[in-house]
Amino acid sequence: MATYKAPLREIDFVLNDVLKVEQLSKLPGFEDATPDTLLGLIEEAAKLIEDKIAPLNAPGDAQGCTIKDGVVTVPDGLAEAYKLYWQAGWVSLCNPTEYNGQGLPFTLSKVVDELLCSGNVAFALYPGLTMGCFEAIHATASDEIKNTYLPKLGNGEWTGTMCITEPHAGSDVGAAKTKATPNGDGSYSIEGGKIFITSGEHEMAENIIHFVLARLPDSPPGVKGLSTFVVPKYLVNKDGSLGARNKLKAMNIEHKMGINASCTCVMQFDGAQGWMVGAPNTGIQNMFVMMNLARILVGLQGLGQCELATQNAIRYAQDRKQGKAPNGKEQIIEHADVRRMLLQMKATTEGARVLAYETGLYVDIAHKHPDAAVREEAQDWVDLNTPLVKSFCTDSAFDLGSMAIQVYGGHGFITEHGVEQIARDSKILCLYEGTNGIQAMDLVRRKLMMNGGRLPQRFFAKVREALKTAGAEFAYISKPLAAAVDDLEATTKWVQQSYKSTPDDASFGCVDFQRAFCLTYLGYNWLRMAQAAAQHKDAGFRQAKHATALFFAQRMLSQVSALLANVRNPAAELMQLDAANF
Ligand SMILES: Cc1cc2nc3c(=O)[nH]c(=O)nc-3n(C[C@H](O)[C@H](O)[C@H](O)COP(=O)(O)OP(=O)(O)OC[C@H]3O[C@@H](n4cnc5c(N)ncnc54)[C@H](O)[C@@H]3O)c2cc1C
Repeated sequence: MATYKAPLREIDFVLNDVLKVEQLSKLPGFEDATPDTLLGLIEEAAKLIEDKIAPLNAPGDAQGCTIKDGVVTVPDGLAEAYKLYWQAGWVSLCNPTEYNGQGLPFTLSKVVDELLCSGNVAFALYPGLTMGCFEAIHATASDEIKNTYLPKLGNGEWTGTMCITEPHAGSDVGAAKTKATPNGDGSYSIEGGKIFITSGEHEMAENIIHFVLARLPDSPPGVKGLSTFVVPKYLVNKDGSLGARNKLKAMNIEHKMGINASCTCVMQFDGAQGWMVGAPNTGIQNMFVMMNLARILVGLQGLGQCELATQNAIRYAQDRKQGKAPNGKEQIIEHADVRRMLLQMKATTEGARVLAYETGLYVDIAHKHPDAAVREEAQDWVDLNTPLVKSFCTDSAFDLGSMAIQVYGGHGFITEHGVEQIARDSKILCLYEGTNGIQAMDLVRRKLMMNGGRLPQRFFAKVREALKTAGAEFAYISKPLAAAVDDLEATTKWVQQSYKSTPDDASFGCVDFQRAFCLTYLGYNWLRMAQAAAQHKDAGFRQAKHATALFFAQRMLSQVSALLANVRNPAAELMQLDAANF
């Protein structure tokens, strides 16, 4: 079975030595969020997750969810663990205090998300979707609706869903057909089917609040004709008590490759009573409020799985004896090829952690900083980083899950060792909340183009500023990073131009472009980590960070130029290949 120990020293290093998290406590409303308080809370979360939630990961995967007569049963122990989790206040960490939240920084909740998603990523989806639903209602609904639903969503007592996908409407959300007909009393009658709905039905909470994308009778076609509705499983009376069961049910649950403890439901709305939130036909904007933060959360899910794969592979390789390395030692960690894999896992996970936490910090600054110009810049970073965090952390989770199996050899393929579950659980992260191909399109088509190309310019400027302060002892990374950033900037200009004239070229290369951008960002992270680690009091920590930074500079950053050369290759001839002749 895979085991999990929260990487507290690493988290402390990233938050304090690299990202200077003390800046959070200078933001209005976060005065109490000092580094010591944050680390104390992270330690507490780690204990609960290691002791109570991670042990349910393998058994939950084996048992899975079941459905009978529309009632979904989750694996043993999950309901009790969920109750413990929300009652201890972990769901409500960064929610506003007026809705039973604790008003703590988003950054802190992302660190806790990482821990939870290492311990049990399937479990993490129950609070994760609840928070997404909370955010969407909070951003769009009237006070009456907020007061009805948010106090119990805000503390996690009720859970939430996001009902977007239909059989013919996946990436193309605008194809959704679910109908919303006015009832004449301010409510709407929701009719239609949704598929793949995470946490759509279960008995872990006394009510489930569905956030549903549907179409008004007179709405225009496509995304411009979608509206959003709050549709509770049980209607809520004026005094807050629960009323009748609403007309919706789970018709089935999906049988999946992974995250088997998370119920993925086929939902049918048969004239269910719902209430519109936001203005008519603004559903896509309302959904994006939730989706943007949800994409960062999915990135954290990926990071959690990267960490789980990496720490288990390292422990196994330190212990397993096989053959003799040239130094005479027998543990497989002494073999150069195993070492290559472990260093790639460490370089990826630790570099991705800085990207993910930094994005969390920018979310807090964008919400709270008193200076509008600083808020605007922070929001630019959030916008730019969202597809990077989502795609890089999740692609890496699947890759590192596979690499962990490779490190274990044939034993990795055997269920009992638990690392094959990481690969199975991680694949979905590359698919939902917009596939990673859709993230790349978002990066190329929107984020590079927004505000006259201001977003990537901020990144290039920041990296060049960091390069200026890098002393000669960091030339092993600063030199390849300088080359990567020059190449990335030139290719960014090429993409910005070519998207207008030959959109297929830009689209063909967008996944390679996204990866090159992420690797360059990780180069920037590794430069900062190498500099900060050089001051660290622990010699072992210093040595490990230096070796991992060197590995990243020599063997991962070097991939940027090949990826960017791919991006600039014309695609016209490839696009002419007839679909039937593939
Ligand atoms: C376990 C699980 C849980 C889920 N949870 C939820 C949930 O809670 N709520 C919810 O609403 N949905 C949920 N989903 C749905 C998920 O978000 C969709 O599966 C996802 O958005 C992709 O849609 P699709 O499966 O229809 O694939 P498609 O859209 O058919 O995509 C197939 C392929 O085509 C590519 N593609 C599609 N369009 C384009 C384009 N314009 N340009 C380039 N490439 C393109 C995609 O990148 C992909 O590679 C879940 C799915 C699963 C499997």
